[in-house]
Amino acid sequence: MMLTLPTYDDVIAAALRLEGQAHRTPVLQSRTADDRLGARVFFKCENFQCTGAFKFRGAFNALSKFSPAQRHAGVITFSSGNHAQAIALSARMLGIPATILMPLDAPQAKLDATRGYGGEVILFDRFQQDREALTRALAEQRGLTLIPPYDHPDVMAGQGTAAKELFEEVGELDYLFVPLGGGGLLSGSALAARALSPKCQVYGVEPEAGNDGQQSFRSGQIVHIATPQTIADGAQTQHLGQYTFGVIRRDVDDVLTASDAQLVEAMRFFAERMKMVVEPTGCLGFAAACHAGVPIDGKRVGVILSGGNVDLQRFAELLAS
Ligand SMILES: *Cc1c(COP(=O)(O)O)cnc(C)c1O
Repeated sequence: MMLTLPTYDDVIAAALRLEGQAHRTPVLQSRTADDRLGARVFFKCENFQCTGAFKFRGAFNALSKFSPAQRHAGVITFSSGNHAQAIALSARMLGIPATILMPLDAPQAKLDATRGYGGEVILFDRFQQDREALTRALAEQRGLTLIPPYDHPDVMAGQGTAAKELFEEVGELDYLFVPLGGGGLLSGSALAARALSPKCQVYGVEPEAGNDGQQSFRSGQIVHIATPQTIADGAQTQHLGQYTFGVIRRDVDDVLTASDAQLVEAMRFFAERMKMVVEPTGCLGFAAACHAGVPIDGKRVGVILSGGNVDLQRFAELLAS
């Protein structure tokens, strides 16, 4: 099957759709981070994005492209995390009914947030039922359009707008570190980097417990793994997508990993030094910049902080550990 991969032009078009709808999130710097790493580090703070994560960008872009008939019928997706809230809020802003499949055992706060944005939540048993098959069946029955969390050209193009803003604000960079789950954020970021800072080395960063992306990148084929055990719940994906892998294998320089302990250390740094709540998955990029052995000394380094949605009780427990 030949896939038509999204291009940087699609990222530009997404940026126009997002103007005045998504936040243009701040780029922050920290003297402490710069001193520790001997580099100039620019943090793109998507923890301050609408719904608390970059996922709003891809969701809003995808829904903005619906035809009148699609808008009328509605959108469906499956997600226990940030994509659910992103779809629910985008759909409400655009007047589109949203149906979201979430696992029975999803945290109450996430169910409440998704319902609070007006999404209709359908619960399923993730140990008994195949969520993708269930979603597809419902989509067919009800005439709904499925927008998956990462493997969709409009989602990838929307996610790329964060890196586009970063390069436009700070200019070219030597390195860019991007959290990696299914690869929507990384592929969109790579499209922006290739266009705006062609010499920039772009790295995806995965949890050490689930390095399917690294295995896929290095072997040239999509590798599937069991759901990894890690505190980075936004990156517990089992495999990259067809579209995301197509861009990643072409435009990304390598895939690195970070351990849970390194993520906690980064969370503590952001809380203590920069007064920010960053969720474990959002810390992947910085953890790798600190620990993966990339020679960033004296360089200009971009780090995408992908989200800030972590239950405060859990946040405190992680920092105390
Ligand atoms: C979804 C998510 C990721 C991973 O994004 P992909 O596009 O699936 O690679 C990283 N960080 C946060 C906070 C997320 O919600």
